[in-house]
Amino acid sequence: MANRLTFPDAALPASTEEIRGRIREFLASELAAGSYTPKVDTWLSGHDASFSKKLGAAGFLGLTYPREYGGQARSALDRFVVVEELLAHGAPIAAHWIAERQSGPSIIKHGNDAIKEELVPGIVSGEVYFSIGMSEPDSGSDLASIRSSARKVDGGYIVNGTKVWTSQAHNNHYFIVLVRTTPVDEAQGRHNGMSQFVLDLRSPGVEIRPIRLLSGHHHFNEVVMTDVFVPDHMLLGVEGNGWAQVIGELAFERSGPERILSTYPLLAALVDAVGPDPSAEAAAELGTLVARMSALRRLSISVAMSLDAGRSPVTEAALVKDLGTQLEGEIPEVARKIVPPGHNETFDALVVESVLSAPGFTLRGGTNEILRGIVARELGVR
Ligand SMILES: Cc1cc2nc3c(=O)[nH]c(=O)nc-3n(C[C@H](O)[C@H](O)[C@H](O)COP(=O)(O)OP(=O)(O)OC[C@H]3O[C@@H](n4cnc5c(N)ncnc54)[C@H](O)[C@@H]3O)c2cc1C
Repeated sequence: MANRLTFPDAALPASTEEIRGRIREFLASELAAGSYTPKVDTWLSGHDASFSKKLGAAGFLGLTYPREYGGQARSALDRFVVVEELLAHGAPIAAHWIAERQSGPSIIKHGNDAIKEELVPGIVSGEVYFSIGMSEPDSGSDLASIRSSARKVDGGYIVNGTKVWTSQAHNNHYFIVLVRTTPVDEAQGRHNGMSQFVLDLRSPGVEIRPIRLLSGHHHFNEVVMTDVFVPDHMLLGVEGNGWAQVIGELAFERSGPERILSTYPLLAALVDAVGPDPSAEAAAELGTLVARMSALRRLSISVAMSLDAGRSPVTEAALVKDLGTQLEGEIPEVARKIVPPGHNETFDALVVESVLSAPGFTLRGGTNEILRGIVARELGVR
């Protein structure tokens, strides 16, 4: 059996220490000023525009973007370090998260000059926010079965359809929406005839309906588009090339340290809660979590190194996301087992938030069954 998974030896270069020091200083001063309370899963639910603007002003967003659009042309490893610190400290980063992680890079890669000039500088300054417009009520894992559509009219396109599970659409400005621009032609294959548009969520004809969590919190939405006009220059890339573009976007979506660190603030609090003299059971449970976290971190760094080297580590990222999201979900289970409820208010709140968020960890960005299928195919066992 061929093993085609490649994990280059993971070591962060010494050059990343300077930016790690700076982001730690930034976070310490924001925490001291009371501008945030550390929470879990903040990259999806911690929407705080003022915090994102501060990060942009301090030069922590768009690090890898080209200089002509306000970026710093730095390495993916510098970005890795910044993102790792933001997640580990439980900072509220959801406002800019999708825009900076995947919409900006997609626009830089596929967008025309007008769209790049209009939107990328605002992403870098932490002021322009994006959601993801892929899933539909009957199309999740089988994304090629989407039914939303766009038809050409004078000066643009008219978009109709419904997207679902659209995180933060009610707080964000745009989403990159995947739609059909030509009907399915079985001879051509289902993956043809799709296109991506940058759609302004404030356009006439867009209705954003909340889908509330069990806790009452609102970060999901259903987005209904009825005859929404999208100007020509908001077509992203080439009409009909949407599938290839979306696969590229998913590589950014699946490859980052947020797929192992969503509940890291709880793990850190758990270490404090058991104290310097834990029971043998607590020590074994915690030791296992920390060892797995440490191994996964190295794999995640390795994926970032491959990205920096210009490779496309789609399969490696799928493997890390599968293992990482399992770990994220097990941390609250271990926390509940070894520290009884009522330990202290902050710890209890982290446990509750983690338990409520955990069911989504292995689903969002592609389910673990789908990811295992990708890995199995690459290994030649499927
Ligand atoms: C917290 C969260 C945030 C999200 N945010 C967004 C967002 O902002 N934008 C967006 O577009 N989407 C978003 N999603 C949607 C997410 O991408 C989908 O939930 C996911 O792709 C799965 O699709 P589905 O829910 O339709 O499940 P389905 O595809 O119906 O799958 C149901 C079950 O069947 C299994 N299954 C399906 N096909 C196969 C197969 N071929 N082989 C083996 N098993 C299979 C799946 O693994 C899963 O267990 C979000 C989801 C969550 C949980």
